[in-house]
Amino acid sequence: MKKYLVILGFLLFTQQIFAADECSVELTGNDQMKYNLTEINVPKSCEEYTINLSHIGKMPRQSMGHNVVISKTADKMSVATDGIAAGLDNEYVKVGDDRVIAFSKVIGGGEKTSVTFKTADLQAGGDYSFFCSFPGHVALMSGKVVIK
Ligand code: ZN
Repeated sequence: MKKYLVILGFLLFTQQIFAADECSVELTGNDQMKYNLTEINVPKSCEEYTINLSHIGKMPRQSMGHNVVISKTADKMSVATDGIAAGLDNEYVKVGDDRVIAFSKVIGGGEKTSVTFKTADLQAGGDYSFFCSFPGHVALMSGKVVIK
């Protein structure tokens, strides 16, 4: 019985590690206005998905802030434009913007943040993007979110 429990515990443990790996991703942004990823693959099997964002540069959030926003690709530019008007106090995201599926706060060099969303909010086969809504960053800091 004890042996069985140990094996069961091990299986649960490894499953948890697997789930944690599959349902989250490490995204970095730097002082050169670049993310490390151009695509994020979200498995449908994950109920929730987490993007862990690290700013690996040194510049402050006021001049080289980064966040991560998720929307349909078709809404990306208009969401980013409205975000500029919303300002840093609102993380460069328009308050109550229902085109935004998820967004993180804006961080500066050496800081970390994360954002979690429900995968049910993304339709399979839909065209979604992740991007930084800091003014002027969307052109360089953008990639696809693919649900599989
Ligand atoms: Zn940025």
